[in-house]
Amino acid sequence: MVYGAIEAGGTKILFGVGDDNGRILDYRTIITTTPAAAMSSICEFFKRNPVEGIGVGSFGPVDVHLTSPTYGQLTTTPKIPWQQFNWVHHLRERLDVPVYVDTDVNAAALGESRWGAAVGFRNSVYITVGTGVGAGIIAEGRVVHGLIHPEVGHLLVRKHPNDSFEGICPFHQDCLEGLASGPALAERWGVKGEHLAEHGIAWDMEAYYLAQAVVSLMLILSPEKVIMGGGVMNQPQLMPKIRSQVVHLLQGYLCHPQITERIDDYVVPPALGHLAGLKGALALVLERCSSS
Ligand code: ADP
Ligand code: ZN
Repeated sequence: MVYGAIEAGGTKILFGVGDDNGRILDYRTIITTTPAAAMSSICEFFKRNPVEGIGVGSFGPVDVHLTSPTYGQLTTTPKIPWQQFNWVHHLRERLDVPVYVDTDVNAAALGESRWGAAVGFRNSVYITVGTGVGAGIIAEGRVVHGLIHPEVGHLLVRKHPNDSFEGICPFHQDCLEGLASGPALAERWGVKGEHLAEHGIAWDMEAYYLAQAVVSLMLILSPEKVIMGGGVMNQPQLMPKIRSQVVHLLQGYLCHPQITERIDDYVVPPALGHLAGLKGALALVLERCSSS
């Protein structure tokens, strides 16, 4: 059987088809502009490639509660054209297949736990650092939704002593996303993350903020694996800096060899690489379709 998967990020949207084994058979990438433009490309693709159902991992906040009348609807997203856009309504209306929606990061966390870096662990987190910052959480084998869904990107963080940047979150200004997202890097340094010099204070500061989020997640959830992906994590020097900041911030408090001796194998990149989100959306539809 063939299933559809959509990973919608703030900068780009990936959509494609995959099989029961988590293989992506074909996919496309488009730039995130308006819902109308995205729906036109996505629906044209799925009309040519019919599927049994579609899993969507979307930027949020988005209603992820299956029984809610507004299931699949985006809410207070800062991306104005997307406010109130409903994935389920639009895709069902035009393609007439079941549609399942979760956050982009919950989907990626699910994909990594099924086929990637967190296989065999019941507790893991997937953090993305891209246009936005967010985390998907698997606790005791289940994706965490709670009242709305976790919004780790808006954690409040301790300011770096040398950082005078006020932050760009439209809601909180200097929350984690406001200080450490790709657009925050671009705004603070006047150049996009991909063009920032490899060394220097920029990446120390970035690691300082991201490590605080990792530490908070470790303290609250005690994950067995922390996976970090997203565009900004493509900077090869960032991961080692985050790992050492995590150890430094903890000051030896969490005394487990996984942290004190094998942090390289504890805070890791996605094993599914740049397809983590898309494969996660596939995992989402497979999980739902095989349980219904
Ligand atoms: P999305 O948020 O749409 O899922 P990405 O995860 O690729 O997409 O995030 C895009 C953000 O990541 C942009 O702000 C971009 O500047 C930044 N980015 C992309 N590649 C790199 C890189 N190699 N180094 C630093 N920042 C990057
Ligand atoms: Zn915020």
